[in-house]
Amino acid sequence: MSIALRTLDDGAWISVNNSRQVSVSDVWTLSRGVFCDCKPAYVLLEAFLDVRVDGPTVVAEAVGQCLECGVRETITYLPVGRIVDGTFEPVDPETVQSVLEPAGKH
Ligand SMILES: [Zn+2]
Repeated sequence: MSIALRTLDDGAWISVNNSRQVSVSDVWTLSRGVFCDCKPAYVLLEAFLDVRVDGPTVVAEAVGQCLECGVRETITYLPVGRIVDGTFEPVDPETVQSVLEPAGKH
């Protein structure tokens, strides 16, 4: 069973199986990674650029801005949910997220 993932409305939403699941308007808490010097960083997303599956994890590429220091950057690896038994389970944006660096260049 394959999952249909795409961005909609100029990156305002991530669609999973033709259903809007993840909104860009949330503030995401990023605990690590190289977004900015804030730890954690509270990042207001502006747009999803891409979405893909990495194993069981649904990973988005997005542009966001840190609410504290104002840095505006691209997040290349933002886990936004998981595929469990063929069903999408979103993560809570208010929980601390780890921005995982991919193990290697894809
Ligand atoms: Zn910051």
